[in-house]
Amino acid sequence: MSRLNPGKLHVQFAAGVTPDGPLTPRCYTLTHSDSTGDLFLTIGPEVDRKQISGWYTRLMRDEVVAEWQEGENGPALHLSCHVSGGLAFGTAGMRYRIFQHELGLALEALRFGDGRLFEARPELDQAPIWIHFHSTNRRYRKTERWGRLPNIGFGSWQADSSEGPVSDVERNPIEEPIVRLGISTCLLGQPVRYDGGHKLDRFLVETLGQYVEWVPVCPEVEIGLSVPRESMRLVGDPYAPRLIAPKSGADYTERMRVWARERLEQLAAVGLCGFVFKKDSPSSGLFKVRVYDQHGNPSRTGAGIFPREVMKRFPLLPLEEEGRLNDMPLRENFIERVFAYYRWTEMLKNDPTPGGLVRFHTAHKLTLMAHSPKHYQELGRMVAQAGSLPWDELVATYGARFTEGLALLGTRRKQVNVLQHLMGYLKNHLSSEDKQELLGLIEDYRRELVPLIVPLTLLQHHLRRHPVPAWVHQQVYLRPYPKELMLRNHV
Ligand code: SF4
Repeated sequence: MSRLNPGKLHVQFAAGVTPDGPLTPRCYTLTHSDSTGDLFLTIGPEVDRKQISGWYTRLMRDEVVAEWQEGENGPALHLSCHVSGGLAFGTAGMRYRIFQHELGLALEALRFGDGRLFEARPELDQAPIWIHFHSTNRRYRKTERWGRLPNIGFGSWQADSSEGPVSDVERNPIEEPIVRLGISTCLLGQPVRYDGGHKLDRFLVETLGQYVEWVPVCPEVEIGLSVPRESMRLVGDPYAPRLIAPKSGADYTERMRVWARERLEQLAAVGLCGFVFKKDSPSSGLFKVRVYDQHGNPSRTGAGIFPREVMKRFPLLPLEEEGRLNDMPLRENFIERVFAYYRWTEMLKNDPTPGGLVRFHTAHKLTLMAHSPKHYQELGRMVAQAGSLPWDELVATYGARFTEGLALLGTRRKQVNVLQHLMGYLKNHLSSEDKQELLGLIEDYRRELVPLIVPLTLLQHHLRRHPVPAWVHQQVYLRPYPKELMLRNHV
């Protein structure tokens, strides 16, 4: 646990507040310098916007702001910190852990910097402390109660669970799996592009970011290039292009390849379930990146240097570009593959047996059928021999064919086939009116009058009310990813 060095704490009182009061309004704005370790604390009637508007703080978003609030049970200290969303450095999980680690130091700084007030009002040492974590990821968007101020200085700061749930409103009750995805850093809104800009993608950050944890990678910055920097392009053979900065003539191909191999080992340890790349980039683009021939003529035939290495190292990993994710069927398909890949890796980690593979396959039967009846049948035959094939060979072949099958788009015709298949389990339970209603909605879906979610919702309603085989309820097809993403409302 970090400890406060009083000599490094710089305190100033803004107009409207003195060292003796008032208690409300009384806000704290705390920032720090990574290079010197100095802490800067402003105490004033409101948050010091100027202090947190510098480019470094805007990028790092590691400021802590706090205020006193008077409640029925007396005053309480509320701290806020920014975990994820908009411009912020690092993954939500990483930032949350850093804040958890460093908030003790922040509290010590507040207590020490505003010492005269605490001496004048000793009851403030007994005031409860609430920490509000702000995040676009709902896993980290929560409020924690952190005990009371007398603990300061003993290095024992942590969320206090002894007084029951920390917040009725904001505490996050979700225990969901951590699905980690790699992403080109500029898509998170971080200004790392060659021109000093970014390419914030709001869907990825604000919507999908609630259910996954992003792991940012910027190949050009991570090989040591500056921001801003010279632009680059792919040159030469489309199958083995060079990464060239045309103005200076510098060739960064080998430097990036060497870096990529080491970086990919780090990413393997993190356990990625997919990667979203920035389109058109010679370093990060996945599809149809311009490759220039010796006469300077471009053809859209290449892939960026880093994605090439990713494909070699993780051949089954779901990969996409942010531009293509604006296409709803492609978006739905990619996210479905990401969550399927997560379940696949969990099976390999926790249940790597023929029985585990059979359970995995059984749960994904209708999903496979919706994407490729051919793969569904072929993989069914493979799994039937699961106990008699060498495990490594079985896993490699099944994994490759499963991935290949899911990458095929689930067309309306294939989806109708699955819906009718599911309806077959209800044929002895539905009244003729219910059957007609369901068949009517399936037909509406086939004719593109309603999205998939419409017949599926009615089908699920009947499946819940009538006795059907247990394996039907276990089908991933019914819940392939968090329903809040509403992907089936658009396909
Ligand atoms: S496209 Fe790739 S290399 Fe370029 S700024 Fe974005 S993350 Fe960095």
